[in-house]
Amino acid sequence: MTRTYLVKNVRILGGDPTDLLLRDGVIERIGTGLSADEADVLDADGLVALPGLVDLHTHLREPGREDAETVETGTLAAALGGFTAVHAMANTDPVADTAGVVEQVWRLGREAGHCDVFPIGAVTVGLGGERLAELGAMADSAARVRVFSDDGKCVSDAVLMRRALEYVKAFDGVIAQHAQEPRLTEDAQMNEGELSGRLGLRGWPAVAEEAIIARDCLLAAHVDSRLHVCHVSTAGSVEIVRWAKSKGWNVTAEACPHHLLLTDELAATYDPIYKVNPPLRSSADVEALRAGLADGTIDVVATDHAPHPHEDKDCEWQAAAFGMLGLETALSIVQQTMVDTGLLDWAGVAERMSAKPAEIGRLSGHGRPLAVGEPANVVLYDPSVTRVVDQTELASLSRNTPYAGRELPGRVVATFLRGKPTVLDGKPA
Ligand SMILES: [Zn+2]
Repeated sequence: MTRTYLVKNVRILGGDPTDLLLRDGVIERIGTGLSADEADVLDADGLVALPGLVDLHTHLREPGREDAETVETGTLAAALGGFTAVHAMANTDPVADTAGVVEQVWRLGREAGHCDVFPIGAVTVGLGGERLAELGAMADSAARVRVFSDDGKCVSDAVLMRRALEYVKAFDGVIAQHAQEPRLTEDAQMNEGELSGRLGLRGWPAVAEEAIIARDCLLAAHVDSRLHVCHVSTAGSVEIVRWAKSKGWNVTAEACPHHLLLTDELAATYDPIYKVNPPLRSSADVEALRAGLADGTIDVVATDHAPHPHEDKDCEWQAAAFGMLGLETALSIVQQTMVDTGLLDWAGVAERMSAKPAEIGRLSGHGRPLAVGEPANVVLYDPSVTRVVDQTELASLSRNTPYAGRELPGRVVATFLRGKPTVLDGKPA
């Protein structure tokens, strides 16, 4: 039996204070002055209620790299960040390219119970980019896969990409592309520009991302299928997605919190904590991403949470792995870059971090509005406090956060998954 929770004086999407009664997995009542005899009462004065966040892009690392993250630790990190559902990327070992592996990840998520785990299936066998994986079998499996991606690698072969886009139409799937032209980014280390030349690090040109996005938008239109663009990082990419949308094509895109805040100037520290794929870009790119997210060109914020053990990050820049943690800081970074700047209100955040990602992933029980009768997937968030990120306190098994020692706004106070708290008072429930 799940307990009943009465949340008092909470501001739904930042609106006027009201009460929220969560019972039997759903939002049973909303209104002022509610009471319920047997309920646990939470004083939520000053807190904002958002629908449970949904991440389209999480690396949980299990199976294969349990030294970096497990489904247990990664989903706990997700819950602490306000997420009630994550999509787990396919670049595990073994690769999630069969019904067996995606069902294993899905089952591990159910056992952990911190948030729902929706496995992403690989597009090609072993992420090899040579032949299509068993997309249909993964879609038909218990994991009900709808999102397919070779993330970490680009499906660079245009014929394969076309076939994948055509294939997933049968079950309303989507191809989520990691847009990186491989020949233009061989041994690339950071954003290509004046700074990469000065630092002596191989540059990663914006065109390597933009050329693939343009090609894939055209391919998706050509076969009338759904394309999702992972981690858009350049102003040019935003322009291309805006153009594709203006044509009415079925293209969606995500931006990551780190690309909304950090710039390539940080590479000058040679600290690999700032090494990420796609790389941190210029401040003009950051501005374009924020504007694109504000006007809806970029549909969602996705974390690209990419845990790496100490030894893979604590080395020279060239040798270090790409990637940063993201789940436990995403909402704070979005508050700092989008809400506190006046670019988005809390309803806009809920749209981009819950409703839209759930829609793209074709999830029925997530991304729903906070309304009577809806599943009680709820985050209570305090935007008025600040905190200094201490990487030793993160729930993730890895420590590679670029925000260690930084003061960030906001704190997740509680997360409810179908009425059951996964986080209370900022701690695992
Ligand atoms: Zn990627």
